[in-house]
Amino acid sequence: MATMKANTLIRPGQLNMRDVDRPEPGPEDVLIRVRAVGLCGSDIHYYEHGKIGPYVVKEPIILGHEVAGEIVEIGDAVTHLSIGQRVAVEPGRTCGTCRFCKSGRYNLCKEVSFLATPPYDGAFCEYIAVRHDLVFPVSDSISDETAALIEPFSVGLHAVERGRVAAGETVVIMGMGPIGMMSAMAAKLAGATTIIGVDLEESRLLAAKDMGVTHTVLLGQEEVDHKVAEITGGTGADVAIETAGNGAAFASAVAAVSRGGRVVLVGLPPTETAELNVSHVVDNELDILGVFRYRNTYAKAVALIEAHQLNFDPIVTGRFLLEETEAAFNQALVDKANTIKLVIYPKKPASV
Ligand SMILES: [Zn+2]
Ligand SMILES: [Zn+2]
Repeated sequence: MATMKANTLIRPGQLNMRDVDRPEPGPEDVLIRVRAVGLCGSDIHYYEHGKIGPYVVKEPIILGHEVAGEIVEIGDAVTHLSIGQRVAVEPGRTCGTCRFCKSGRYNLCKEVSFLATPPYDGAFCEYIAVRHDLVFPVSDSISDETAALIEPFSVGLHAVERGRVAAGETVVIMGMGPIGMMSAMAAKLAGATTIIGVDLEESRLLAAKDMGVTHTVLLGQEEVDHKVAEITGGTGADVAIETAGNGAAFASAVAAVSRGGRVVLVGLPPTETAELNVSHVVDNELDILGVFRYRNTYAKAVALIEAHQLNFDPIVTGRFLLEETEAAFNQALVDKANTIKLVIYPKKPASV
C-alpha cells in the first residue's frame, strides 16, 4: 500500500511527522493532493486539551479541516470532476437522508463525519480522499490559500444569512479573529454599508479594515455602546454578530442592536450559560440566532471570490510547511495577539 507523510497529533501537545497509509478513494470519492490547510481554533483546542466537548481524541489523529488541493485520482462513479482540477473541500460529510439533510439544513445532520473531528482524520498530510459532492473546483484566479479559507469564510456567510443582513444595514461584529473577519467580508458582500469591528487588539482592527470593516471599537479604550450609538445616531445596529465567545461580548451584542434587531451567536463561550436581559429582548422584539458551522455556502463562496476577485491575505499572519506544523500551533498559542490565521503547506509553493 502507498504511504504518505502526515503530521499527526499523538497526544495533547505532541505532533509527530509519520508515514501513514495513503487513503484509497472509493467509487464515489476523489483523491486530493493537499496544497494548503488553514489552522483553525478547533485544531488548537484539540492540540492543547485533547477534546472539544463530547469529541475526545483517543487515538492519534490528523488535524486540519480548512483544505484546498488538487485532484489526482477519481473514483469510477465520479463523472463531473477530473484529474488536475484545483478544488476547495467542504469538510463535513452528511447522511443525505435525514430530515435535516432533506430540508437543506444539512449542517444539523446527526450522522456527520467531519474532517479532523475524532475519530475522523483531517488534512495536515499529503493526501485526503473525499466524496465527490464535497469538492468544489476553483479557477486559477483563486490561490490555494484563499480556497482553503473558504471554510472559515463559510461560517461568516452563514452568520450573515442567519442574521438576514441586507443592503444598507449596519452590522456590529464582536471579536476580530478569523470568523469575525470573515463575517465582516460576508456582511460587506451582502450590502451592509456600516460594519463596526470590535476587538482588544489594535493590530486586528487594522487588518479588519481590509476585510470590509468601516468603523472600529478598541476595547479597553472605547466602549461598544457609546461608539455604536454615536455611529448610528442613537438607533443601534441592525445586526450584531458575536464571534468572541464570551459572556461580556454576548451582552454587548444584545445591547448594541436597535429595536427589532438581530443577534447572531457564533462564538462558543467557555461556560455553557451566559446572562441575558430577557425583558430587553422581549420589549425590543430581538431575534437571537445560533450558528452551527454552515450549509450550502461553498458554491456561493467560490462564485463571490471569483466575481469580486477576493483574497484572504489580510488575515494570514503566518505560513508553515507540513513538517513545521507544531511550530505553527505553538505560535498560535504563545502569540495570540499577533496571530490571526496560519496556513500549512505540505509542499513548498513558489510564493512562500
Ligand atoms: Zn475551521
Ligand atoms: Zn442527515
